[in-house]
Amino acid sequence: MKFAELVAAYERLDATSKRLELREIFVGLLKDAGGPELGPVLFLSQGQLRPEYEGVELGVANSLARRAIAGATGVPDAEVARSEKLSGDLGLTAEELLRGRSPAADAAAITVEELYRALRSVADAKGEGSQDRKVGILSALLTRSTPLEGKYLVRFVLGQLRLGVREMTILDALAQRYADGSKEARSRIEAAYNLTSDLGLVAEALDRGGLEALGALRLEVGRPIRPMLAERSPDLADVMERMDGRAALEMKYDGLRVQAHVPEEGPVRIFSRRLEEIGEQFPELVRALPGALRRRPAIVEGECVPIDPETEEIRPFQEISRRRGRKYDLERMQAEVPVTVFLFDVLLDGTTATTALPFGERRARLVDLLLPSERVALADQAVVTSVDEAQAYFDRCIALGGEGVMAKSLAPESSYHPGGRGFWWIKYKREYTHALADSVDGVVVGAFAGRGRRAGRYGALLMAVLDEESGRFETFCKVGSGFDDATLAGLPERLAPFARDAADPRVRTTLLPDRWMAPGLVLEIRGAELTLSPTHPAGFGRLKPGSGLALRFPRFTGRFRDDKGPEEATTVAELVRLYQTQVKRAADVAEPGGTTGGASPAGARE
Ligand code: AMP
Repeated sequence: MKFAELVAAYERLDATSKRLELREIFVGLLKDAGGPELGPVLFLSQGQLRPEYEGVELGVANSLARRAIAGATGVPDAEVARSEKLSGDLGLTAEELLRGRSPAADAAAITVEELYRALRSVADAKGEGSQDRKVGILSALLTRSTPLEGKYLVRFVLGQLRLGVREMTILDALAQRYADGSKEARSRIEAAYNLTSDLGLVAEALDRGGLEALGALRLEVGRPIRPMLAERSPDLADVMERMDGRAALEMKYDGLRVQAHVPEEGPVRIFSRRLEEIGEQFPELVRALPGALRRRPAIVEGECVPIDPETEEIRPFQEISRRRGRKYDLERMQAEVPVTVFLFDVLLDGTTATTALPFGERRARLVDLLLPSERVALADQAVVTSVDEAQAYFDRCIALGGEGVMAKSLAPESSYHPGGRGFWWIKYKREYTHALADSVDGVVVGAFAGRGRRAGRYGALLMAVLDEESGRFETFCKVGSGFDDATLAGLPERLAPFARDAADPRVRTTLLPDRWMAPGLVLEIRGAELTLSPTHPAGFGRLKPGSGLALRFPRFTGRFRDDKGPEEATTVAELVRLYQTQVKRAADVAEPGGTTGGASPAGARE
């Protein structure tokens, strides 16, 4: 196929935005392209060279493209830049400048195959002298280009093709070209794409043997599968109804979804939800994964969350984003913001593809496959059979730092649906309220030994508030964030007068610190929000049977309240009020214009 033919189709695609017309034009293109050209035609038309997950980038900036145009047309660089400024589109500039040039008399027409090969070498050019090599290749192509070819070539290399040909349109066109265009054919083709994430591969299989040939496409280690997605639901009663009264509920971790491909030998590859390869950013996971699985090859999925190295509690998701896109300083970031991946699914277990198994069986396999470690853990799960059980589990997840629950169907049809959003998985999140209105003055009642960089010191403190009625100090959080080095170093001395071997009889907690402290030292603490929690006894049973209050994502503000004794610290009654204003404000958000009516936020229900 000639590049000129492709470009003629691009002109027509460019002139319409109607999906049906786009599809018809595309079907025509598919008919004209020969087998090996199919992949290139599909990828080029989407402005890519390879499937997205391979992350192949041309690495061509405007300045480089300008140099290539100058080289091909003999027009000086500055002149090209001036023209670009006027047109606002370097593609149009190339077209115009190529028109003004006398065409090379003996130039042979560019074929799609040749163009594709040349562009791949542009992408492959790395290291010293690569810029010049890229300019050379592009300039040689432009020298042989017609003005129209030049326009699209330049737009392509700059990532500005934008023909409006979306994946959905291509799948429609494939169904039309290689089958009868029916819904059933379309969904078989889409399923093959969801499994392989590679339209080129799907098109080539169709070209070879029609729909039947799709059956030969398999899950492969190193090639991501498009992730299964979840529907959402307004409340847990609805969730349980849709699940026919029985479901596996899992903690919904607030982090980054990862799909890990662990080959029998060789490097682990980790893909994000959008199928970008992100293993480089999480070397500790790449290292830990092979040893964490009993069988290989394997493909597993999970959520990667930041963990506080001191308290081992889940930290806010934002702390992971400090690591995203980083190339340098990774070692330091690993120590500061280590991550743990909580695995929730297995797609390949040894040589067995498990995607067709019901979820319950996949979970059993995952449990059997995993050797849990600090970096690779199992997603928390409970099988529930009533709304009350679901609510209790939800409250527990929130208290542990989750953002809600994922309900998963255990029905026989609950196979892994790649790329699909359906009610097999339902997410139910707590509505985010807002930052806690006020800080809390908490009393130190215990301390935990530090680990990692904080070894030999205290790493986290157990904090309580005072219940004025009983005179007890009831814990509401464990705080390890917000301490600078100097403060940490000074903590043992500051706490020495209060240190005890046993719990002070006034202290109520379910946790076991490494060192008990008599109530004395008061610290100002901030946090994201107060949540109902079965773990902490502060205000136990006052808002809900079986629950106390816990502060989510606590952080020391840096202020020691030496001006306050433990009896002047925040009280349980104040904490309860703080929780209620938070609930009220959340209701305001849910129902603009008033606080009346029963709009209570998720999780605040009685
Ligand atoms: P959302 O991003 O709000 O559409 O919620 C779906 C996402 O929740 C998934 O893509 C995962 O990244 C994440 N997630 C967290 N915990 C789980 C879990 N236990 N099972 C499945 N997905 C989870």
